[in-house]
Amino acid sequence: MQPFVYTALPARVVFGFGTAKQVAHEVARLGCSRALVLTTPQQVAAGEQVQADLGDLNVGIYSKAAMHTPLEVTLDALAQAKALDADCCVAVGGGSTIGLAKALALHSPDSAKLKIVAIPTTYAGSEATPIIGQTEIGKDGKPLKTTQKTMKVLPEVIVYDVDLTLTLSPQMTVISGLNAIAHAVEALWAVEANPIISTLAVQGIEAIARSLLLIKADSQSKDGRADALFGAWACGTCLGACHTLGGSFNMPHAETHTVILPHAVAYNAPFAADAVSRVAKALGVANAAQGLYDLSKENGAPYSLKSLGFKEEDLERAAEIAARAPYPNPAPLVKEKLLVLLRNAYEGVRPS
Ligand code: NAD
Repeated sequence: MQPFVYTALPARVVFGFGTAKQVAHEVARLGCSRALVLTTPQQVAAGEQVQADLGDLNVGIYSKAAMHTPLEVTLDALAQAKALDADCCVAVGGGSTIGLAKALALHSPDSAKLKIVAIPTTYAGSEATPIIGQTEIGKDGKPLKTTQKTMKVLPEVIVYDVDLTLTLSPQMTVISGLNAIAHAVEALWAVEANPIISTLAVQGIEAIARSLLLIKADSQSKDGRADALFGAWACGTCLGACHTLGGSFNMPHAETHTVILPHAVAYNAPFAADAVSRVAKALGVANAAQGLYDLSKENGAPYSLKSLGFKEEDLERAAEIAARAPYPNPAPLVKEKLLVLLRNAYEGVRPS
């Protein structure tokens, strides 16, 4: 056993079917009595159901959560939370809605920090991390994203209700699921790797791989949806514990992560043999990189950068940026070798 440091994250997790009905109990348990429900414009109906379940503890709904946590949305929601004298927020949705809850906690004063009950409906895993990314318009007029890690944004309670994930589209399911696997793979070879998180990473990979097959056969499969949501928590916890700001070669978006992952595994395999063999075992295949590639392709996820609209002339620059990545990576980051990796990902070839 290698020496390690492990810090457990203090979150209460309630997992099951129909568990969103317990939201009032969870809010009261936190000592709160004035809950503001958060959603995106697309999930207002799910938010209204949670408002009804909150009963007297509901003070209102804010339904303008958006991708990448824009600061102006946060400030608008914060003003509403203040006007309604909310003491907590209940985020019903994916990473965007949970991101808004985190931003509200971050921007509320320490003395009156808004507590968070997260009810996740995708497999992004943000609810299990003390990480927040925010965007604001920079001096040049372009959106500028900043990411930070602070315990102030970690939700106090996560209520996983499998029933709420049945409506997630097949495309979003597979991309979100494979992105979650990417977090677990990174945790297995991270410098901060430890036996607790590694065990969870393997469980997360197994659960998601199993779930994708069941959901492909039947998008309403309760077993499949339950496995996927458990896997999302396991992989999100890995991300929270072993997060290297930037992630897979500093590539944005879940789709890109999904395409790059098999190639990143092939690239790192000679330098992270133990981690990569655990990934292969969790997937039930002989070659982890090929197993991940097949999992994407067979489940309808994108598997080439070309299909994502990435331009061939940008590969060189992407390799340069990846080679300059400041965070540790198992294999040395050599521009020429990264260019080969990116070209393979661009063409969508199966890793050898
Ligand atoms: P999302 O939250 O943006 O959701 C995408 C769309 O799907 C939205 O319209 C949403 O309302 C809808 N939706 C969500 N669940 C649904 C369901 N069950 N049924 C029907 N529609 C549903 O997407 P996401 O991938 O969950 O989150 C992406 C965001 O999360 C990004 O901004 C990303 O940076 C962030 N993120 C943050 C962390 C972190 O640790 N801070 C981790 C992962 C992702």
